[in-house]
Amino acid sequence: MAQQTALVTDFDGTISEDDFFTLVAEKYLVPEDLRPWQEYLNGRLTHFTALNRVFAKIHIPEAELREFIGTIALDDTFAKVAACCAEKDIPVYICSAGCDYYINILLKELIKRYQIRLVTNTGRYTPQGGLVMIPPHASPFYDQDVGISKAGVVSYLQENGFSVIFCGDGPPDVTPARLAQTVFAKKYLLAQCRREHIATRPFRSFCDVLAYIKEL
Ligand SMILES: [Mg+2]
Repeated sequence: MAQQTALVTDFDGTISEDDFFTLVAEKYLVPEDLRPWQEYLNGRLTHFTALNRVFAKIHIPEAELREFIGTIALDDTFAKVAACCAEKDIPVYICSAGCDYYINILLKELIKRYQIRLVTNTGRYTPQGGLVMIPPHASPFYDQDVGISKAGVVSYLQENGFSVIFCGDGPPDVTPARLAQTVFAKKYLLAQCRREHIATRPFRSFCDVLAYIKEL
């Protein structure tokens, strides 16, 4: 029997066109609010802490935040990929160093319909405290730097006999890309994979991933 396959994908900038972080910063934050992110880039804060400190600066009414999140553009073909994977018994994992607050607003129906596993931080919003992420300390995939370890999810699946397809775009996607059997990459991740000579399939949209999965 052919080896079972699993699909592990990033959310921000991979399923969504742009990062929630970037979009929210452009619309609601001032440069001063982004100082923690500079500290992350300079190696002085973890990814998780920096993101949390920036998200804590959002103080708009919750209805407005939810409406704003609803306008975030998604890659339409991801729904077709999820349907195709369900038909082929390919488990789908969305792994995000962001949080479930905005992913669920955008994808809750799809996640439920296709039993997609969402592995991410828990997010709670209040206009006073902003968006606060709670690290999943009890998760087997807990990671101090980003909250959840995408590489941990890939390793777990491989230990359970799966060949893993990984899709991503950003810095937290490099370690899982080093492990996965098949990598679809764009933006930063694509450049980094090329620097590290990781066999990679560039992708513009999930149309490329769909074409690949259909052939399995
Ligand atoms: Mg990303």
